[in-house]
Amino acid sequence: MQHSTFSTEELLRWDRQYVWHPFTPMKSWCEKSDPPVIVRGEKEFLIDSRGRRYIDGVSSLWCNVHGHCIPELDQAVREQLGKIAHSSLLGLCNEPSILLAKRLAEIAPGRLSRVFFSDDGSTAVEVAAKMAFQYWRNCGQSRRTRFIALDSAYHGDTLGAVSLGGIELFHRTFSPLCFAVDRVRPPALAPFSPLNATAAKPSEAAARFYSQAMADIEVTLLEHRNEYAAIVIEPHVQGAGGMLMHPPGFLTALGKLAAQYDVLLIADEVMTGFGRTGRMFACEHEGFEPDLLCLSKGLTAGYMPLGATLASERVYQSFYADPQENKTFYHGHTFTGHPLACAVALASHDLFEKHSLLEHVGRLSLLLHQQISPLLEHPNVGDIRQLGLVAAVDLVASRQPRTLFPSHWRVGGAVCTQLRDEGVILRPLADTLVIMPPLAASEQSVAHLGQAIVKVMAQLPQIIANIAKEHA
Ligand SMILES: *Cc1c(COP(=O)(O)O)cnc(C)c1O
Repeated sequence: MQHSTFSTEELLRWDRQYVWHPFTPMKSWCEKSDPPVIVRGEKEFLIDSRGRRYIDGVSSLWCNVHGHCIPELDQAVREQLGKIAHSSLLGLCNEPSILLAKRLAEIAPGRLSRVFFSDDGSTAVEVAAKMAFQYWRNCGQSRRTRFIALDSAYHGDTLGAVSLGGIELFHRTFSPLCFAVDRVRPPALAPFSPLNATAAKPSEAAARFYSQAMADIEVTLLEHRNEYAAIVIEPHVQGAGGMLMHPPGFLTALGKLAAQYDVLLIADEVMTGFGRTGRMFACEHEGFEPDLLCLSKGLTAGYMPLGATLASERVYQSFYADPQENKTFYHGHTFTGHPLACAVALASHDLFEKHSLLEHVGRLSLLLHQQISPLLEHPNVGDIRQLGLVAAVDLVASRQPRTLFPSHWRVGGAVCTQLRDEGVILRPLADTLVIMPPLAASEQSVAHLGQAIVKVMAQLPQIIANIAKEHA
């Protein structure tokens, strides 16, 4: 079947010549990689220009929900296109953004009642940080300017989000451009921390990290009492930091501390929102009530870029004033509240109910767990973590003592490349395999995904031998 007017070879040549890929060392991309050119999608499958089908095992970077080319979602975009593609929210309203804001306020956890639209996850976080900062000015407490964020946090790539982020490799270069953030240890250890070599059993370690994290946060809050604007957190799962999972009770304890010290809570659910962890929002696992909630990725089921920052009434009311009081939120984007994106977000939410999607996620998570848990016996698997349909498998050179592969070997990447031959697309975080199929994937596809990973892991000694030879 003819997929494109252009040959795969032409497209790949032009990709190398013109496209600068995100988070990508471009030399090895251009000289060594042979990436698929995706031309179509069909439910949980991606189809490339050579006609090969793959399970979209990371939901097109953690955002796809119902699959690709879903008739109801396509229809929602088409219908809106038939009316108007875009008009501005500056001085005007539009129907899809009104209906989506209403819907989000109705389904949001806790006390969130107002919706501010932006373009993506990073901007949703920028908006939350600026709102939190200005909130305290509006309240006449302009000393409250500091933020607390976790080590290994990831909140996006614009400078405010980078300031809040805590991943050395991504964020170090830009630190001179960033505002200062007080960083505390998360209640989990990054999979590739050298400290892991001394970690006891994961369950015992979790208890230790939990009390360290709580102590860190309280000491920090005490040290600069009344100077904090907000604590920023990815609830339950720290995504790009290595799919770190927080032990139960941490969010509840954090909520108590924030209330005690009267600090705003910003929950970044850009990755965890919309069913990924088994609940509509990860905050719901513990009845966590943030003052600001950042959403993107799954918001439009992965169809279109759209960000939303939800605010509590308390935050909103501090901005609710006449212009001369200087409490207006002077922030906005050209495409704020984009009608096409809002229309597809509404249609996506309709499908959650129509397909009882959260129950389906429950079944799939159990199945995925069964599929990948045998890997715990694998000599090169350091840990497996899972919550809902987010799973992570850490690859290690050896378990006892825990040693890592040299990072430039890119063992995680090599495993994922090998998985393409099994009809699976995964993208690792360093040497952590990330498994996040679309929530609506079939049981058969999730079983295939698990089996493919187990099969390729059995070939790991050969993969490692080849890499070692290359680097000898
Ligand atoms: C992906 C992500 C972001 C950034 O979203 P973009 O749309 O890529 O800007 C922010 N926070 C978390 C937790 C994310 O996973």
